[in-house]
Amino acid sequence: MAEKIRSNLFRQSREITIILPRRVAATTWLTLLAFLLVPGLASSQINAGEPLRPEWCRQLPRPQYKNLERVNVTDDWFEVYRVRPDVFAIYEPHQFEEVISYLILGSRRALLFDTGLGVGRISHVTAKLTSLPVTVLNSHTHFDHIGGNAEFSEVMGEDTSFTRASIKGQSNIYSRDALAAERICGTLAAGVRADSYAIRPWHISHWVQDGERIDLGGRQLEIIFTPGHTPDSLCLLDRKHGLLFTGDTFYPGPIYLFTPETDFAAYARSASRLAHLAPSLKLLLPGHNVPVAEPGYLTRLLEAVRKVQAGLVNSTVIEGRREYRFQDFSLLLAVK
Ligand SMILES: [Zn+2]
Repeated sequence: MAEKIRSNLFRQSREITIILPRRVAATTWLTLLAFLLVPGLASSQINAGEPLRPEWCRQLPRPQYKNLERVNVTDDWFEVYRVRPDVFAIYEPHQFEEVISYLILGSRRALLFDTGLGVGRISHVTAKLTSLPVTVLNSHTHFDHIGGNAEFSEVMGEDTSFTRASIKGQSNIYSRDALAAERICGTLAAGVRADSYAIRPWHISHWVQDGERIDLGGRQLEIIFTPGHTPDSLCLLDRKHGLLFTGDTFYPGPIYLFTPETDFAAYARSASRLAHLAPSLKLLLPGHNVPVAEPGYLTRLLEAVRKVQAGLVNSTVIEGRREYRFQDFSLLLAVK
């Protein structure tokens, strides 16, 4: 979604157009807000009490959702789609990240791959979809994938120092920016406020290994460690059905590879590992934006990563990041 990267985030009388990636780090927003809060610019809109309606929000819903089967689950924050039999995408369209968690059912138990922002109660949604016991596994432990972890007693995780830091949660000082008005499309879930929003700590009930298999009863899932985006990034493979849940290692959009916890060389190795799987896959189920993508993206992702490594492609510097654009996705790296 290269065109999506250019977001007119604030409509103001002086028509200031700010170009930023689709999903932006909190620190950037703080800087940006400080800039905007000069007298006569954004203050009148902020004081008006109306949520700002940036471009990203006006562009929703994404057209791909028209072709998906919506599941009638009553909730004011989540939308649920049946992507495949017994595979549900639990989508959060009202926040800038547009994060997607997945509930995968077997005959004996269910796996929840990520728990979203922790704005809505994802355990209430999973309880409406299944009566099976639910175990959580995270694609990685960035805040927007772990928000509901504390609602579950069975949470698996990868044993990295990054994960061990994440499980302590995140206080409101670091979290509240995610729910600032310009990052919300529509209204927040009932009872949730930016000034009290935080990521609750959780407990790991089982440390997973690379290649470990999870038997849900009639459905086997395989854990593939794909470090790079974070040290604890992993993908989930349903070999029999040709499904690969990719988390933030791949999604159609600007892929974040600029934070201190990103290791681009490791990401390249992970991209290579996934590209080898592509011929055996039928569907990718990414962690943001849309819950369905063609497996062929993995081959293109590897080509893109190799071109960047070889210096064969030009970047555009935006808001302190180098953006390498490809068809339907881009790689956002830190400026060295
Ligand atoms: Zn992430």
